[in-house]
Amino acid sequence: MHLCRASGATCPAFKAMTTPDPSAARNPCISCGGDAWRHPFVARNFQGQSFRYVSCASCGLVELDRGVDTAGAGEVYEEAYYGEGPSKFADRIQSVRQRHAQKKAARISSLCPGQPGRLFDVGCGDGLFMEAMLKRGWSVDANEVGPAALARAQKLTSTKLGRGDLLDIVVAEGSYDVVTIWQVLEHVTRPAETLQKAFRMLKPGGLLTVSVPNAGSWQARLFGSQWFHMDPPHHVHLFTPDNLSALLNRHGFNPFLFVGNPLEFGPFGYVQSFMNMMGLRKDSFFELLKSKALTDRRLSVHQWMMMGLAGILTPPSVLLALMESPSRCSGTFEMYAKAKR
Ligand SMILES: [Zn+2]
Repeated sequence: MHLCRASGATCPAFKAMTTPDPSAARNPCISCGGDAWRHPFVARNFQGQSFRYVSCASCGLVELDRGVDTAGAGEVYEEAYYGEGPSKFADRIQSVRQRHAQKKAARISSLCPGQPGRLFDVGCGDGLFMEAMLKRGWSVDANEVGPAALARAQKLTSTKLGRGDLLDIVVAEGSYDVVTIWQVLEHVTRPAETLQKAFRMLKPGGLLTVSVPNAGSWQARLFGSQWFHMDPPHHVHLFTPDNLSALLNRHGFNPFLFVGNPLEFGPFGYVQSFMNMMGLRKDSFFELLKSKALTDRRLSVHQWMMMGLAGILTPPSVLLALMESPSRCSGTFEMYAKAKR
């Protein structure tokens, strides 16, 4: 029995993703077209469930090795995924996230002279980036699969936001100056089709931005299945800069800018992965940061100890995150591409 973290109900998505399908044949790699897969390994999630991943022998794309069903995706991304309180994290963490959202908004504005224009944010989460663009005068549409996150984002705009996966909603084609896909492409079950739809939504020469965890980072290679971003069943594909670039090229985009942005997720990736490797419950510190217990300052002794350990691990984690970034090996990365037409 697989229960939804938020509602306690049986979750069809978890059930589908944890049911082995021995007859399933693997499709060719979406990035390079290769059909040889290697190094199956098992990663666990916070609930202790095991999931198998494989990687492409040619380009290193990492893929969840199960038939994945999007039915019930909204339940997978219910309240527990986006935090229990009125916001995803406590105020101090939210303000850091806000600063990173503003930085992204400033970069996009600088890449689009003569704007503000029209932007679509794929998987807007709780809407922090959308808010930053709205403040710059942009017209913003968005979609989100998680009902709780969507409700938070909806408070920020009078535009009706799409509920559900991008592939399941109706969106105007050829009408956007920019499409952003921040920390979402690794979640979707059909990333190639998602990029094809983004291409159709853009005006000729429009800008696409994608950010994803980096399967080629030092931290990914050091921690393997204990890496924070090895997050089954949420993370279905894990990309490197090279194989994401190849995927974008296959679907009509010309990538022109790589941004490592090491301090956005890099240090936390190290802190949580170190804790996972030390035998603490997988990603339990991340869950603590999203919990109401932290907001209300009602922590158990164990949770206080975890906070103390995080304090000890943070300085070396910041250093490692900064060291890995210049060689395109940051824990996450952003890629900017123009539609080739
Ligand atoms: Zn490949």
